[in-house]
Amino acid sequence: MIIRDIEEWLPAKEKPLLIAGPCSVESEEQVRSTASALAKNKQISALRGGVWKPRTQPGSFEGIGKPALAWLKKAGVENQLPVITEVANAKHVEQALEAGIDMLWIGARTTVNPFYVQEIADALSGVDIPLFVKNPIHPELKLWIGALERFQKVGLNKLAAIHRGFYAYQSQPFRNEPKWEIFFELRRLAPEIKVICDPSHIAGKRELIAEVCQSALDLGMDGFMIESHINPTKALSDSEQQLHPDALAQIFTGLERREEAIHDKRFIGQLEKLRSEIDQVDEDLLRLIKKRLDIANSIGPVKYDHQVTIFQMKRWFKVLENRKSFGQNLNLNEGLVHEVFQLLHKYSIDEQIKSHKKSGAKQL
Ligand code: PEP
Ligand code: MN
Repeated sequence: MIIRDIEEWLPAKEKPLLIAGPCSVESEEQVRSTASALAKNKQISALRGGVWKPRTQPGSFEGIGKPALAWLKKAGVENQLPVITEVANAKHVEQALEAGIDMLWIGARTTVNPFYVQEIADALSGVDIPLFVKNPIHPELKLWIGALERFQKVGLNKLAAIHRGFYAYQSQPFRNEPKWEIFFELRRLAPEIKVICDPSHIAGKRELIAEVCQSALDLGMDGFMIESHINPTKALSDSEQQLHPDALAQIFTGLERREEAIHDKRFIGQLEKLRSEIDQVDEDLLRLIKKRLDIANSIGPVKYDHQVTIFQMKRWFKVLENRKSFGQNLNLNEGLVHEVFQLLHKYSIDEQIKSHKKSGAKQL
């Protein structure tokens, strides 16, 4: 089945797009049995399978390559599912198109590099195929949008984005931090682009996938790409995050579909009251932030007069420790306190640098 119009499969609110299939196509039998188990679930819209696998470390399973394209396609045709695979260069594009692959995706490690993206865009110029672009590994929205634009420029108009989370030095409990705020910003800047969620690469662990799916649904994302394997623990790549097709079906049955629009009048009143309280607290917060920055500002000239550096490491560590323990007494999340003070401190320092520059300081 070739998909002609992206709107045909993207997506009705009641039925978000659901692409599922193995991380890697490992053998004809593996992809075939996974596909037929998945196809029992009528919610599945397409079959995924990685053929060329970008692996962080050498020596890991790097995919079967070209022969796996035919196995994937065959499994799709047998189960009446369109198939999708990852391409990372012009040769991949050529081979995937030749094998009749219905849709393509660009991986996170490819989106980071405009040279790779342009090479693929050139290879796809004039080809009418749906293309999904994963976010780059690090949280740089411009790169993500830039990649989408490069594909748009060569005439691809069946474009969608995949949110697969972002690498973070510490991203517990997930493998990749969701950073939903980047998805909100993408929605704001490119509202016409459909965005689906890849909970497998965000979660990194089977047990956390349902939770990520529910969040994505609550945030109004347009669908999912989920890794599923007939024998997940034996998978040659990403074995910890792949779901058996039955487990995947179970997760989908368990998801709650909540509405964004509010109908109950009493609830509207209650919500409005709470929201106006929040508005008031936010105003107070902003006044306090202004007060804090003003004080920080007046420290600038004092430091300048005494020729001491703006950044005082010991003082900063003490501030952070002190605020964290104060926050702990208030039962506040430690990460939240840490991030808020990191931001406040950054802007205080910026203000002081500006005031130093005004006073003509040569060195900080
Ligand atoms: C994948 O989908 O298997 C994959 C390699 O994903 P990502 O590019 O998001 O790491
Ligand atoms: Mn994977």
